[in-house]
Amino acid sequence: GLMRNGQALPTVFARMSALALQHGALNLGQGFPDDAPPAAVAEAAIEAIRQGRNQYPPGAGEAVLREAIAAHQSHWYGLDWDPATEVLVSTGATEALAASILALVEPGDEVITLEPFYDQYAAIIALAGGVHRTVPLVPRSPGGPDTAAGTGTAAGTAAGRSDGDLELVVDEQALRAAFSERTRVVLVNTPHNPTGLMLSEATLRAVVEEAQRHDALIVTDEVYEHLAFAGEHRPIAALPGARDRTISISSAGKTFSVTGWKIGWITARQELLTALTGVKQWLTYSSGAPFQPAVAAGLALPDTAFAELAADLRARRDLLTDGLREIGFRVSVPEAGYFTVADAGPLGEPDADALAERLPQEAGVVAIPLTAFYRGGEAGEANGFLRMAFCKDRATLEQALEKLDAWA
Ligand code: PMP
Ligand code: GLN
Repeated sequence: GLMRNGQALPTVFARMSALALQHGALNLGQGFPDDAPPAAVAEAAIEAIRQGRNQYPPGAGEAVLREAIAAHQSHWYGLDWDPATEVLVSTGATEALAASILALVEPGDEVITLEPFYDQYAAIIALAGGVHRTVPLVPRSPGGPDTAAGTGTAAGTAAGRSDGDLELVVDEQALRAAFSERTRVVLVNTPHNPTGLMLSEATLRAVVEEAQRHDALIVTDEVYEHLAFAGEHRPIAALPGARDRTISISSAGKTFSVTGWKIGWITARQELLTALTGVKQWLTYSSGAPFQPAVAAGLALPDTAFAELAADLRARRDLLTDGLREIGFRVSVPEAGYFTVADAGPLGEPDADALAERLPQEAGVVAIPLTAFYRGGEAGEANGFLRMAFCKDRATLEQALEKLDAWA
């Protein structure tokens, strides 16, 4: 399913970014920020190139970066990892995810993810010959499942939500029911792409309990860890009983606004990390040399540097979601990340696939249909939903809102 007519099928992000170029449209599709990296991080990379750090670094990653990753996990989450044996640098979270699934999943093993899910998950599970089981996120209903992070009405209002906004949450019963003796890996993603949901402590505890009961491993994708707008990121590895069965993955791309650098990392106990290293060495062998000391410098920045980006993004989230709501979309006000999910149903547009194809030309704006994050492109109730990125500069967001307003 990765090819069609002898061509590699482009990912939805590549396809929509190409449409943006073709029509000169504003690109609220692919999740890359307009923000510049922190000056100290950019300068450190330039300096590393000048110093001649341009050849293969060690396969496991430069010691300075592995030490910085361990120090960051200890400082922020109280998690202690040995930088020599429990930390692996990867070529983005993308490679970390691929190496994890390829190392751990045998043909026929089951892998559980939420649905919607980041599109790579389905592809990499398929490459490993795994069987993909999904747990659907469901619209929060009054009296319905309430397992999202502290997002009852009061917290919702504090988080900038209005009555009638869209909110997708985890149904804990469905989550537990997805596990079986065939489950090898549960792949969690918090904060979550595309919804910006931060999984609640109760949900994460349920994952750990079921993983223990079924002797499954936990792979956790936490690339948006520092882009939380209300409340703190909860790393699942820090929960009781989780550490030894958890492979934690993150990346510099979002935290330092360097998605093109492709530096990610994995922390896991030694035996698991060794299995992943065995795969990683045949995928890329090693990862961008001069970027590694630069990311190490970034991870050591004061806490305020991390908070600044989140606060700034939060303001842009509000700009986009308030504007979309005024135009007539039903919107979600995410707790974290780069994206809002907007329902075009109230505008009489129930088919987001068709709408996303037309919008670049008709409105001059690119968005991603939520169907891209569902198996078989079938999103059920979410068939009319679009994902829009607010990690763009204010002028771009304002222009996009004007264009969408004129179009609607
Ligand atoms: N996981 C999620 C949830 C993502 O959104 C992304 C990309 N934005 C990645 C992984 C890939 O990260 P990287 O760019 O570091 O490979
Ligand atoms: N993670 C980015 C997003 O969700 C895209 C990364 C990619 O293009 N593969 O938009």
